Amino acid sequence: MSIEFSEQLDSPIISPVYAPQDAGEIGLRPRLLSDYTGQEKAKGNLSVYIEAARLRNEPLDHTLLYGPPGLGKTTLAGVIANEMGVNIRITSGPAIEKPGDLAALLTNLNPGDILFIDEIHRLNRVVEEILYPAMEDFAIDIIVGKGPSANSIRLDLPKFTLVGATTRAGQLSAPLRDRFGVSLRLELYTPEELARIVTRSATILGMEIDPAGAMEIASRSRGTPRIANRFLRRVRDFAQIMGNGVITKEAADLALSRLEVDRLGLDAIDRRMLTAIIQNYGGGPVGLETLAATIGEEAITLEDVYEPYLMQLGFLTRTPRGRCVTTLAYNHLNLPIDGGNGWIQQEIL
Ligand code: ADP
Repeated sequence: MSIEFSEQLDSPIISPVYAPQDAGEIGLRPRLLSDYTGQEKAKGNLSVYIEAARLRNEPLDHTLLYGPPGLGKTTLAGVIANEMGVNIRITSGPAIEKPGDLAALLTNLNPGDILFIDEIHRLNRVVEEILYPAMEDFAIDIIVGKGPSANSIRLDLPKFTLVGATTRAGQLSAPLRDRFGVSLRLELYTPEELARIVTRSATILGMEIDPAGAMEIASRSRGTPRIANRFLRRVRDFAQIMGNGVITKEAADLALSRLEVDRLGLDAIDRRMLTAIIQNYGGGPVGLETLAATIGEEAITLEDVYEPYLMQLGFLTRTPRGRCVTTLAYNHLNLPIDGGNGWIQQEIL
C-alpha cells in the first residue's frame, strides 16, 4: 500500500501556519492553564494577573500575545477566557474591514468578555483608531448621518478585555502597543514539552504512543505544537500500516523520513537554503532577497517559516550584511568548512 502526501504540494508540511489539514487541532486545545504545557514564564505572570483581576472582580487588562505562528496564542486566549469564566469572541485583523464591523463586535460584548483579535498588526488604520477609545475609555464615537448634518455620538461599552495576537510585534503601531497593559512573548517549545503535548493529543485521539515515539515526533517538530500535532496524525497512518498501530520511534522515523523531515526537523527547503549559502556564497553573508531568488522561494516564506527555527538551532545568523551559516549547520549537512570549495553533497536522511 502506498500513501500520498498531497499536502506537500500546498504548504510545506513543516509550516507552522494553520492549514486546512489542521482542522482536527481545535479539539486538542487545552482549556485550562494547568493543561497548557510549557511557556512557564508567560503562564506564571498570567496566572498572577488572572488571580488579581478575579479578586478585584474586574476584567483582565488588555493583553498582547506575540511570537511565531502555531505556538498557542489562540489557545492561550481561550484558556484566559475559561480561567476568568467569561465568553470569548474570536476575530482577526484582516476580517475587520470597516469601523462598523468593529463597532458591532464591541457593542455585542458582555461585561468582562474577551475580544480576541488575531493578526492584530493587520488592522487597518481607520479601524485601529476606533479601538483606542474602546480600549482606554470603554467607549466608541460613531458618526451618524452624512455631510453637514453628520453627528458624532459616544456609545459606552461594557468593560471588556482585548487580547491581541501577532507574529510581528514590531509592526504594531506605538499607540496600539502602548494600550496593552500586559504583553507576553511565546517561545519555541523544548522537545520534552512537545513530547508531553504529543502524548496528551494521542490520548485524546485514542492513539497508543510510546515515550520514544513521542520524543521522536517532538524533536522533529521545530519547537511548534501545531507541527507536532500534524506529524502525529501522519505518523499514525504509518503505525497502522506497519502493524499494531502503536506509535513507536520506528513508525515516527519512517513517516517523517518519507516526508523528508530530517532528525532535527529540517525539510528539503531548509537544506537547500543552507547549502545554497554555503555553495554559492561561501557561507554568507547573503541578503535575504538574493537567497530567496537563488533557491526559488519567497523571501517572506524563508523569513517567517524557515529562519526562526534555523536560528533557534544556531544554524543561521542574521547580520546587518545578510544571512550567515554556522559551523553547526556545516556539521549537520556533512559539508566541509572550506568556503564552499570542494563542496560535496551528501544524503542527509
Ligand atoms: P497560534 O494562535 O499561536 O498560531 P494555536 O493556539 O492555534 O497557535 O495553536 C495551535 C495548536 O497547537 C492548538 O490547536 C493546540 O492543539 C496546540 N497547542 C498550542 N499550544 C499548546 C500548549 N501549550 N499545550 C498543548 N497544546 C498546544
